[in-house]
Amino acid sequence: MAQDETQLVRGSSYMFHPAGTLPQVTPEDSSEEALAIAEAARDFMNGEVMPRDEEIDHLDLALTRDLLAKAGELGILGMEIPEAYGGLDLDKKTALLVLEEMAKQASFSTSYTAHTSIGTMPIVYFGTHEQKAKYLPRLATGEWCAAYALTEAGSGSDALGAKATAVLQDGHWVLNGTKAWITNAGFADVFVIFAKINGSHLSAFIVEKTDPGISTGAEEKKMGIKGSSTRTVILENCRIPEDRLLGGKGKGARIALGILNVGRFKLGASSVGAGKRVLEYTLKYAGERTQFGKPLNAFGLVQQKLANMAVRIFVGESMSFRTIGYLDDALALTSWESETGGADKMKAIDEYAVEASMSKVWGSEALFATADDAVQTFGGAGFSAEYPAEKIYRDCRINRIFEGTNEINRLLIAGTFLKRCSGTDGLPLAGSATGTLDLPEDGLLRTVALAKARALRVIALAQADRGPKILDNQEAAARISNLLIELYDMESAVVRARKMVEAGHRWAPLARDLATVYAQEAWNRIQGEARMLAAELASDAVLDSLVADLLAMHAPAPVALSTLRCSIAQALVDQGRYPISAV
Ligand SMILES: Cc1cc2nc3c(=O)[nH]c(=O)nc-3n(C[C@H](O)[C@H](O)[C@H](O)COP(=O)(O)OP(=O)(O)OC[C@H]3O[C@@H](n4cnc5c(N)ncnc54)[C@H](O)[C@@H]3O)c2cc1C
Repeated sequence: MAQDETQLVRGSSYMFHPAGTLPQVTPEDSSEEALAIAEAARDFMNGEVMPRDEEIDHLDLALTRDLLAKAGELGILGMEIPEAYGGLDLDKKTALLVLEEMAKQASFSTSYTAHTSIGTMPIVYFGTHEQKAKYLPRLATGEWCAAYALTEAGSGSDALGAKATAVLQDGHWVLNGTKAWITNAGFADVFVIFAKINGSHLSAFIVEKTDPGISTGAEEKKMGIKGSSTRTVILENCRIPEDRLLGGKGKGARIALGILNVGRFKLGASSVGAGKRVLEYTLKYAGERTQFGKPLNAFGLVQQKLANMAVRIFVGESMSFRTIGYLDDALALTSWESETGGADKMKAIDEYAVEASMSKVWGSEALFATADDAVQTFGGAGFSAEYPAEKIYRDCRINRIFEGTNEINRLLIAGTFLKRCSGTDGLPLAGSATGTLDLPEDGLLRTVALAKARALRVIALAQADRGPKILDNQEAAARISNLLIELYDMESAVVRARKMVEAGHRWAPLARDLATVYAQEAWNRIQGEARMLAAELASDAVLDSLVADLLAMHAPAPVALSTLRCSIAQALVDQGRYPISAV
């Protein structure tokens, strides 16, 4: 744990440290206390939520509310709320373990995260003492439920372009406008609503459902997460007391964007939990269904899918815990006791905005690929609503859209990274264009080192050639993001596997196989992205020298992935589930 700020790992800096040299938290480092809470969450999901799966998906909102209140009794609504306001104030690692469990029912998990994360956290970080004292104890127990209302029909990705207005009249704010797509709107008691004071200063307000002038529209008819409530929130001369302004006049953008970072970390983690459940029922089906006289799991192309699902779980979990480790370290240096405690904590989270977006983008796409593999493994039954694969395919599609679409997040990743390399932050991108490379002994780390050097070289040369105009080419910006994401994931998985090997962990050989499959395939993708990025951005002269440069660099020896995947699949079949479990 860092003793002071100088010991913190800075956001985005992983690209500039030699492969595998940064400290990294993994699920295997979880404390007994965190595991006990996660186990309680698992029992709650298995005992209370999963048996009511169908009712939840039929939009039984009273049931969802009841279940949230039960989660409140267990303490898992207040994990991130300070103790002074009725919460447990646990670290984010514990919240992550719990979230993995909650993710097993997608609709309930959506309601849970909208409440505990984007609904509650604005008050935790930006509320006055009076606001916190009034709302947080009730939100921690589930007596009240929360929603976050930023989006409007005309402003989705362009989230700060809200048209809703707030005017101060006789000691009251009067709000007008319509918010769209608001999760939990059908049963929330408290809404954090964004509106512009006098049409220009975007600000956040706490609105209660009993305030005059607030109402909600009909439930949206959605493709997936059908058991979560999604409605418009209508404000017609909605009058609220002056002291319901949250965080101060004009602080709306700060709150809205800061809180989205929290949501993005969590979305990445919940994708891992959902992936574990998908793998479990797909393994079961692939063991029971026979074709050509054999179970499906005996066929190489089915084993490939099963193994890939496990690879994605391992990689996603490795990156989520790595990021959360950095975050917990930074948050541990701040204190609720300080007058600026909330703002300090938000600033600590902002530092890892790139990692938050990477977690969201990678997690949502990995889960979608897993859902697709599940549908394919179920064959025709995968297309039938009588089997579970069809539901996860619909349920997880939204993850690529909300909390900022993956396109917007990719633009954010590249933009923020390049800004940190050119501003006062001074991450040393310019120096990465040339230089020799010390290659580690370990084959997997060597792959990471080579991939990092290759990616940095292309990004640095492209930026030197094009300057800030790089970002005007969105396809190129997305390629920069893809390189950054692949490197983060690859390194996170490799380092975790190495730690497990060093610790003599029971599943270390499996972990090493999972990391090897990912590293090999990521290497191939990085090669492709680097070449295409060079072609997009560099002038002919730079391109010639760059291609020569890239070709001169070593490439890791190819590995026969079918053997590895067959052995991974065998371990999964033997255990009937993803076996590397911290809980
Ligand atoms: C089920 C559900 C629940 C939701 N819950 C909430 C909630 O609780 N609170 C809340 O405030 N909002 C919520 N949302 C809204 C959600 O955050 C937005 O739908 C999302 O941000 C995208 O906005 P949009 O739908 O207006 O799409 P648009 O912004 O119109 O985007 C459409 C497409 O254009 C692309 N695009 C847009 N701008 C750019 C650009 N500059 N460059 C490149 N591509 C671009 C997008 O990536 C996307 O592919 C929810 C939405 C859904 C569907």
